[in-house]
Amino acid sequence: MIEKVTERFFRYVKIDTQSAHNCTKTPSTPGQMELARLLKIEMSEIGFTKTTLSEQAYLYGFIPGTDHSKAPIGYIAHLDTSPSVSGKNVKPIRFRYDGDDILAANGSVMIRESSQLSAYTGNEIITGDGTTLLGADNKAGIAEILTACEYLIANKNTLQYPDIYVAFVPDEEIGHQLEYIDLDTFKSKIAFTIDGGEEGEIEYGCFNAYNCTISISGKNCHPGYANGKLISSIEIITIFLNTLFSQKISPNESNNDMGYIHVSSIDSNEQIGQISLIIRDFTEDGIKAKISLIETIITDCKLTMSKRFNENDFTITASYNEEYKNMESEINKHPHLMDTLKKAVIKAGATPILKRIRGGTDGSALSSMGIPCPNIFTGGINFHSTGEWIPVDSMEKAVKTIIELSCMI
Ligand SMILES: [Zn+2]
Repeated sequence: MIEKVTERFFRYVKIDTQSAHNCTKTPSTPGQMELARLLKIEMSEIGFTKTTLSEQAYLYGFIPGTDHSKAPIGYIAHLDTSPSVSGKNVKPIRFRYDGDDILAANGSVMIRESSQLSAYTGNEIITGDGTTLLGADNKAGIAEILTACEYLIANKNTLQYPDIYVAFVPDEEIGHQLEYIDLDTFKSKIAFTIDGGEEGEIEYGCFNAYNCTISISGKNCHPGYANGKLISSIEIITIFLNTLFSQKISPNESNNDMGYIHVSSIDSNEQIGQISLIIRDFTEDGIKAKISLIETIITDCKLTMSKRFNENDFTITASYNEEYKNMESEINKHPHLMDTLKKAVIKAGATPILKRIRGGTDGSALSSMGIPCPNIFTGGINFHSTGEWIPVDSMEKAVKTIIELSCMI
């Protein structure tokens, strides 16, 4: 099983599927479709009864169950790699880790020795060559799902599992979480993303996510004749941001179960300006409190400005847009789900580590559609970096988790 999953992984990471921001097409890059086409052929060869590839590079597969008393389940992984680090000419290297710093091809330190790394001393791991990311996020997930499915199909006469739906989807890394998913094709009632990190990790919760745009207008005039007249949008933005930052609610002051308000961009001239914010919190009440804080800052900002200027001569308004929801509430409706998942991880030889993701996944989007979807480890570590690596044993345990889970759920 180890050889099968690593062989697949090595083939997939060599296809450049880095997604791209600011592209209006889906998939955002052609490599994702290339990988999807290759996987479609492979899925037919393994024995998937049905495979469907959409023009947006959503690849679906179906395996008929051997136990129809159970609700259909689904597995999801994403085709793309992060736009932040090159995924071109990835050269995976498999070797036995000896306990030192791991050097890149040019002699620089690619992965510094750490307690996380030293836990795998004497074991086989896979890295890139230090010039690209590795792509374990999320090609390890794809390789693990297909290796597990191959096993389930080959042992259909002895194993009991429900109908299984698989989806490999594009552009997760640029926030297009399941935008074009077809739930008439992906008919699972419970699903799992195989997109987590270190061995044993199960992510059962994530942020609630909103973005917010603060729009500002002032009153411009010639700066030489501006006395008492110029109402600068830039000044209003400065007042707003000074107050916001004084609240100590930025991402760099937030960890564990805390949320944050992050200023992601500012665009302004004297006349008009815009501040883009993202708002994150694990609870709906936390989101409401943060929106209320923003509204209070806007009111204070208006008050400060109206002491000097006519309040009809400037505006500050906020608009809010929900991005994704914490999947926890949907998962909690199925109490057996997390119990079964933990048991499957233990049966696969790993120790369950329950976590909330300080971000979102495809599972957040699916949970919002009423299909609970926790996230399971791939084994990969240091995602989105040239120091990304994955222990070979962890990949095998992820495959076994999927097999056990399919038969236990
Ligand atoms: Zn991922």
